[in-house]
Amino acid sequence: MSFIMKLRWFFKERWKYYVLAIGLLIGVNLLATIPPKMIGNTIDHIRSGNLTVTTLNHTVLLLVGLAVLLYIMAYVWITTLFGNSALVEKVLRGRLLAHLTNMTPAFFQRNSTGQLMALATNDVLAIGQTSGYGVMTLVSTIVGASVVIIMMVSLISFKLMIAALIPLPFLAFVISKLGQKVRVRFLAAQASFGKMNDHALESISGIRVIRSYVQEDNDLTAFDQVTSEVMNKNKRVSILNALFQPLTSLIVGLSYSIGIGYGSYLVFHNEISLGQLVSFNIYLGMLIWPMISFGEFINVLQRGSASADRLDTALTQKADIVDVDKPVVVDLPKRIEMKDLSFTYPTANHPSLAHVSFELERGQTLGIVGRTGSGKSTLLKQLLRQFPIPPEKLLISDVPIEQIALHQVKSWVAYVPQEHLLLSKSIRDNIALGKHTASPDEIARAVEMASFTQDIEQMPEGLATIVGENGVMLSGGQKQRLAIARALLINSEILLLDDSLSAVDARTESRILQNIRKERADKTTLISTHRLSAVSHANWILVLDEGRIIEEGTHEQLMQFGGWYREQWDRQQMEASLDE
Ligand code: ATP
Ligand code: MG
Repeated sequence: MSFIMKLRWFFKERWKYYVLAIGLLIGVNLLATIPPKMIGNTIDHIRSGNLTVTTLNHTVLLLVGLAVLLYIMAYVWITTLFGNSALVEKVLRGRLLAHLTNMTPAFFQRNSTGQLMALATNDVLAIGQTSGYGVMTLVSTIVGASVVIIMMVSLISFKLMIAALIPLPFLAFVISKLGQKVRVRFLAAQASFGKMNDHALESISGIRVIRSYVQEDNDLTAFDQVTSEVMNKNKRVSILNALFQPLTSLIVGLSYSIGIGYGSYLVFHNEISLGQLVSFNIYLGMLIWPMISFGEFINVLQRGSASADRLDTALTQKADIVDVDKPVVVDLPKRIEMKDLSFTYPTANHPSLAHVSFELERGQTLGIVGRTGSGKSTLLKQLLRQFPIPPEKLLISDVPIEQIALHQVKSWVAYVPQEHLLLSKSIRDNIALGKHTASPDEIARAVEMASFTQDIEQMPEGLATIVGENGVMLSGGQKQRLAIARALLINSEILLLDDSLSAVDARTESRILQNIRKERADKTTLISTHRLSAVSHANWILVLDEGRIIEEGTHEQLMQFGGWYREQWDRQQMEASLDE
């Protein structure tokens, strides 16, 4: 029942197709009852000696005609019904992806990639099966069984029907008990399938590290354990499935014995004819399929609703960042102001930012430096609105960021993350990620600003070179400059560079920074870095330590102050001169 509720929207939308398929399915079941009756009649004619060639011909022709008609009807209902299951799978996958794109990092910390992949594959498949094959088995059971029973009663004998069907309720009872177990075991199997996905993903993407630490065997052993678990859990499901089949044979066998035994008795006492007994046994045979169907239905339904539950759990998780009802419209981010902001990651127990305040006018540059783990990336990420923050702590043009529409904030910001993400597409498509329509000139400009032109000229196919999964065929510095070109292409109001020049040499770095300063003179830029030369030109510099600002000022002021910044600067200058 809960399955139907969860897919109500789909059944509502496609009800016409379901009516057509179910109607035809009922028709097929009804028509299929005619041949046994005709065969029974023919036998009675033979027995009484009044079978003529004409009636026999008629019968044979009718039987052939019926078979053809049934074939066509079956073709139509099968394609219609299973077309529905393919469609529901497609729609659900689309919904899932749309949902995932709306989710913030907190969601992905709770749900692993492998589990999400399991949802998109196995679970969606199970739901599709229930809405196609499941519907078919349900209709077959109800219609098949009731039609056969009606024929038995009206054409043959009520007494005989009751006697032969005595074992059936027992079957129904056992099947419903087994069904509940199937559900529990199937949920467990799906969960370990998700774990296996995770492991496979990590092994493949981490293959280089695994090899360099000679961990292949260990990894294989660990994977073997995971796959064994998947196998065992699936085995436990199939054991239950295997229990259904013999059970139906057993019950059908019992029914047959009663049918033949008690039926012969009735023929003997002239209550029914021999032909009726033959028809009755054919009808009994026709009950096998509805009974198997019923078992299958329970099975598929349990799996489908287990999967629908799993999918629902993922789909109903709300993003923790949503637009306010009436967003304030801000046309330009003229000022960015942080007011005593403290921030703790949802999964952490220590704040990663504590009492941070700064002001930044449009066109200015903010530098953020500090030891590793001091909160630089965390500070930059606040402008991406990935995590909820206390209200009125971060203002853009004096409007709290939480009151501005999400898409508006996102349209202002270009972000070059510390861990670059490249798609396995061409260099051109990777650069044009934020602006698919960019002209070759625009791309060339962005590439030039990121000091990436020469590298591209040396690539086998220039801009059309495919970079491989997450840019495997680029060097660290090339990946960084590609990511910078991508950000510069959209010429955004606010640019966030998170340690984005760490893998290029000092000279390239200063060339890129010069380009950025020139091109973005009236735009705002925030730069976090370990190399202080990257921010010495900034209008204001924050030095963070354990999420707090320990020093701040311009380069000159910080040099005069003589604290951490001064110390680092001197050391880095000395190292640089030694390198030369
Ligand atoms: P680095 O110079 O190494 O890039 P950083 O200054 O950018 O360091 P952050 O990445 O901002 O440092 O991390 C600050 C603190 O927040 C660290 O203690 C880190 O463990 C914690 N942290 C970062 N990301 C998360 C997260 N997603 N969940 C929980 N804690 C996090
Ligand atoms: Mg960082």
